[in-house]
Amino acid sequence: MNTAFIYTDAYLDYDYGPTHPLRVIRLKLTYDLIKAYEILDLPSVQFIPTIKAEEKDLAAFHSEEYLNILKHANEGHLTGNAYSFGLGPGDNPIVPGLYNFSLLVTGATLQAVDFVADGKGGIAFNIAGGLHHAMRSRASGFCYINDPVIGIMRLLNRGKRVAYIDIDAHHGDGVQKAFYGTNRVLTISLHETGHTLFPGTGFEYEIGEGEGEGYSVNLPFPHETNDDVYVWAFEEIVPELIHAFQPDVVVTQLGVDTFYNDPLTNLHLSILGYERVLKRIKDLAPRWVALGGGGYNISNVARAWTLAWAVMNGVELKEDLPQSFSEEAEKMGVRERELRGPSGTPLHGQNEENRAEMERVVNYVKETVFPKVKG
Ligand SMILES: [Zn+2]
Repeated sequence: MNTAFIYTDAYLDYDYGPTHPLRVIRLKLTYDLIKAYEILDLPSVQFIPTIKAEEKDLAAFHSEEYLNILKHANEGHLTGNAYSFGLGPGDNPIVPGLYNFSLLVTGATLQAVDFVADGKGGIAFNIAGGLHHAMRSRASGFCYINDPVIGIMRLLNRGKRVAYIDIDAHHGDGVQKAFYGTNRVLTISLHETGHTLFPGTGFEYEIGEGEGEGYSVNLPFPHETNDDVYVWAFEEIVPELIHAFQPDVVVTQLGVDTFYNDPLTNLHLSILGYERVLKRIKDLAPRWVALGGGGYNISNVARAWTLAWAVMNGVELKEDLPQSFSEEAEKMGVRERELRGPSGTPLHGQNEENRAEMERVVNYVKETVFPKVKG
């Protein structure tokens, strides 16, 4: 099966600022590790340099007023009412180049979508994408433009049936909201409960409305959920829904902020749990548009997305990181010398309560959502 990897170093022209947790350098670090493992050189792999999206692509979802404010911000101009669009000091800073960055990220997602929809191959990966919190007229949670929504809309326009699976530690609220009233897109989000983490939504009772009732699915996990409980809940819900819904394309947001050593969140996954889920998604997806997402430990990001790309291509990597990568990466504070360990140590025990809570959630989803999707 042919695969595509979409990337450009031009992402690095944008910077959220020195104190912001989202560091764009993690994209370059991931690309460097994938290249060092020589898994862009496989005969089945197409490397596609990112091309910017066009303004009309963004306007398919976002309001004209909001896009104008982003364009002003791109030139370093502050517009008086930018605050009311979610922009300003903090999560969504107004930094020159932010509109260009958004055009690049969204462009890469559309290139991934077209690669798959054109039948050129089965899987395409845009590590820069997955900015799932952006709303129609509002920046949110480090996200200015919602590339997953724009990508899914293009797939719908091309007559495809789409399932969206979001495994970021944060609820995929922007994507859920965009498709809350339709049964043409099945959205499934697995995340830390909104009781303890931004954006404070994604409870199991959010199941869609009108024609979309049953087509929004949420699995909110308690603090310190480990691999065993997480993978168990995934297996109980996701495969059966995907089999029933029969999508043409599965779009995924592959955030890696679920790991126990992520600085912003409270879940306790290891890279092994992440790998198990990715392998299942590969089995389940007839075609797969894979997007990046959160992840604030840059060593985890580079290693987990490299592992993801290996899974997508069905190759096994040696555990020792390539020497050429380790030397460069150490300058950026990456001390790990192995692909999985030490983040590859699953945490067990202490999860009886979490298991009981997730049994309750899983049963709720089976009772409310399964009858709708399975007909
Ligand atoms: Zn996140």
